[in-house]
Amino acid sequence: MAYRGRFAPSPTGPLHAGSLVAALASWLDARAHRGTWLVRIEDVDHPRCVPGADEEILRQLAACGLLPDEPPVWQSRREALYQADLDRLVAQGHAYACACSRKDIALALMAQGRARERNAELVYPGTCRGGLHGKPPRAWRFHVPEGTVAWTDRRVGVHLQDVAREVGDFVLKRADGLFAYQLAVVVDDAAQGITHVVRGEDLVDNTPRQLLLQRALAYPQPAYLHAPLVMGPNQEKLSKQNGAAPVDLREPRAAVKQALSVLGLACEGEGLHALLGSATRAWAARYP
Ligand code: GLU
Repeated sequence: MAYRGRFAPSPTGPLHAGSLVAALASWLDARAHRGTWLVRIEDVDHPRCVPGADEEILRQLAACGLLPDEPPVWQSRREALYQADLDRLVAQGHAYACACSRKDIALALMAQGRARERNAELVYPGTCRGGLHGKPPRAWRFHVPEGTVAWTDRRVGVHLQDVAREVGDFVLKRADGLFAYQLAVVVDDAAQGITHVVRGEDLVDNTPRQLLLQRALAYPQPAYLHAPLVMGPNQEKLSKQNGAAPVDLREPRAAVKQALSVLGLACEGEGLHALLGSATRAWAARYP
């Protein structure tokens, strides 16, 4: 199948050293496979988006020589697709309406003696699996099947997660009417024919949820590669919250060079394009 990859930034601010690594890794993988590289603006969580950040990210990518092969798409314009697949999941018994508030969930967990478990407040106790009993629906949840999900990442190897126990029935559409990242990303990766997902390692724990959704929706499973993260001052992932500076549009070559060193690729090249060319060859040798 012809390679199709993507970079899927959330426009919550401009590209910084950390998000550039993810962008560059996905671009290099697509180029190394002579594939198609797409950019998808993940603005489905509107309240977290910063006006103008989408256009700024596209300008920064272009300055770094990372140009998408097809026009970018915006998730906020694709909500009908997410609703259609949510309806399909509900009709097939894979998803259900939930009437619980956070307080209801905390009380139910306490009643089961699980309130003090680590992350217990995040593991939904399944209260509404059997119906709403006349209560109004707030959110929609995925009915997570029992068992361990296993998958192999192209960089970090085998991963196992018992999603039912560690995550629980996760939300697909929130009480505020917004679609959750997990659903939107799976629907879009399938709709755009994505064969290879290359993204930051902070998303590794989300992958098993996405595999379960792909199975329920009968979508193909892409190959996954989770790229290393850039760490901030206190050994946390570099982010806007801990002061990451935007990629400097005037110094794209320096920014690309720094991102390549995070990826463990020591490349040389006079101009930006020579540097990207030598990086593509190095990447192809590392991740065939
Ligand atoms: N929009 C997500 C983020 O910026 C990335 C989603 C993905 O690559 O699957 O963290």
